[in-house]
Amino acid sequence: MDRADTAAPGLDPDGRRHLVILDEHVATPGAAGVADVCTWRLGETHASLDDLATALTRRLAVARIGERLYLSGGHAFLAQLTAAALAAGMLADEIRQHPVEGRLRRVVCAACRSTALVPADAAHINCACGARLAVRRQLSPRLGACLGVPC
Ligand SMILES: [Zn+2]
Repeated sequence: MDRADTAAPGLDPDGRRHLVILDEHVATPGAAGVADVCTWRLGETHASLDDLATALTRRLAVARIGERLYLSGGHAFLAQLTAAALAAGMLADEIRQHPVEGRLRRVVCAACRSTALVPADAAHINCACGARLAVRRQLSPRLGACLGVPC
């Protein structure tokens, strides 16, 4: 996927401080020049998703009114950081999620239940169990992956 079409959402004009957190593969949004925008990126400012969640929890512990959170990334990224923000007392209204598909997607084989990372644009894959799978485009929140159906 082209990084250019994965820009983050615009900033909330009601927010006073803005924290933008980007997944590894997400293009940097054009928010330069806006006051009080802090940008974190997985793999650059923080080594792991757990590090990001911990830092987010610490920041929100001293957050003032008007803090806004913007998350751009894959399903697991959004799920973990949203959970951390809500647990730290942020309101759902203060969090904007921007789901972005990475270059890879997780696929769960409907035949053997194993998971595989495959190129995001792959329509068919061969599972290790021998099944030829058609990859459904829609992400299953329950699986945290797309379903691969034998074809
Ligand atoms: Zn399989």
